[in-house]
Amino acid sequence: MWIWDRRRGQGSESGCDSPKGLMRLLLKLGAGLGSAILGLLFWGGAGAAAAGESVVAEAMETVSAAARENVAAEAEEETSAASREAAQEEAKKAEAGRFLVALDPGHGGEDEGCSGGGTEEKEINLSIALLLRQYLEEKGYRVLLTREGDTFLSLEERVRLANENRADIFVSIHQNSCEEGKAQGVETWYAGIYVEPGGEADAGEVSGVESDVESDTDADSGGGTAAGEVSGTESDVESDADADLGSEAAASQAPCVELDLTAALAADRTASSRRLARLIQGQVLSRTDAEDREAQGASDYYVTVHTAMPSCLIETGFLSDEKERQALESHDYQEKIAAGIAEGIDLYFFPKTMYLTFDDGPTRENSAAVLDILKEWGIRATFFVVGENVRKNPEVAKRIVDEGHTIGIHCNSHRYEELYESAEAFEKDFQAAFDAVYEATGTEPVLFRFPGGSINAYNKEVYEEIIRDMTEKGFIYFDWNASLEDAVKHSGPEDLLANARKTALGRKRVVMLAHDTIYDTVLCLPELLDQFPEYRMEPLDEKVTPIQFK
Ligand SMILES: [Zn+2]
Repeated sequence: MWIWDRRRGQGSESGCDSPKGLMRLLLKLGAGLGSAILGLLFWGGAGAAAAGESVVAEAMETVSAAARENVAAEAEEETSAASREAAQEEAKKAEAGRFLVALDPGHGGEDEGCSGGGTEEKEINLSIALLLRQYLEEKGYRVLLTREGDTFLSLEERVRLANENRADIFVSIHQNSCEEGKAQGVETWYAGIYVEPGGEADAGEVSGVESDVESDTDADSGGGTAAGEVSGTESDVESDADADLGSEAAASQAPCVELDLTAALAADRTASSRRLARLIQGQVLSRTDAEDREAQGASDYYVTVHTAMPSCLIETGFLSDEKERQALESHDYQEKIAAGIAEGIDLYFFPKTMYLTFDDGPTRENSAAVLDILKEWGIRATFFVVGENVRKNPEVAKRIVDEGHTIGIHCNSHRYEELYESAEAFEKDFQAAFDAVYEATGTEPVLFRFPGGSINAYNKEVYEEIIRDMTEKGFIYFDWNASLEDAVKHSGPEDLLANARKTALGRKRVVMLAHDTIYDTVLCLPELLDQFPEYRMEPLDEKVTPIQFK
């Protein structure tokens, strides 16, 4: 498909390009002048018939040649789809090889962790970690295990291994236990702070204390904080001023420690740790029917606080719960957990892509609020604007462009009956919107979205012609494959979030439809941006393969 390329200028690579480039220029100049000249200038257009039979024949030929080309291309596409996918898989695997994942099976040796029904935590931690290593290596990652056998390893050594080998992420694997009550389920912890590890000289001295602390923490019902339970241990640690970094509990309370990371990097590490924890938690839950005890922040586990890279600690289940323990002892269930963690890690490094799109604006307040939120989150989106609104709020349209979002054309008037009366009516309306955007922003949009989508109840008679004409002129239209359904009346912010989640269906590429004119959309936007850790959000551009209704 021909695409107008501003960077290449007038598009002179083939004979077809120049008239289309000129067409774009004419669109910019104005509808009246454009439509008068178009019929004479361009083959294949509505005006071509008037120019004589030979032109019609030529146009027909061009069309059928294009159709033949399409059929050939489609067949080729099908046969090569599989091999292309395989090639992509290989390329991704090679990319994954850049990343080193540190896996830390908790406890080991004399430190067996918690236990239940004769099963010791350290064994299950190790078997899940070994399975996980296998899955990760199959995906191409490099893996560093802090222990490969039933050996004792201090927490400092675990952290030191990860830090010295410059692992990209650190994942610690543990089992939970609860003395009273009937706790079950999976939880994943990440730290809100980073503290540089203490001197190595203290390692031996505090390691005993640490494993006490960790056992106690493991024995905690999970809901409460470890602070109360470990207070006795803490005071031991506090009596040795140099050893205070050796204790998980003390680490969280260490008032002021020199940071190895800059503040920005530390904040980034926290955000990345949170994302990692949520992805792992989510993927493990999608493969098991375990209870969701959620990704939890403010972890004070030594290994999550002192590792210099994004890190988390997963408690994959409760050994104190007989049913869950039996599951955890089985190879099948361990495989599910390992596969889930592996998938979470894979999504961390290779997120899917979501293109947020906002139709119908810009409005003075709602669109501005949407822009504020996107700015705060550092996310760029796409706005398909209405010409009449651009004329009313040119400064908001300008802001869209200035803040790095993509601006596309929706329509000028959004009155379906007029818009879809004929292909000519559509293009006239489009021209007016194009002019408005150009005047307000100095930008020539290339992307557009049909009001109601490319195929709808109002445009059945004309959509094929419009698509042909617009494509010919170098414009690209995007429909959507997920939606907040925020144009539907009587939904609240919660419904919109649920709709977004439900319709995204975990697809690899999502074009999400939203409306920046709707107040509820503004209300739910921060949570919307937060609820898809598996996606990287990007603005659309002309290089993105369009999502189009068929
Ligand atoms: Zn609309």
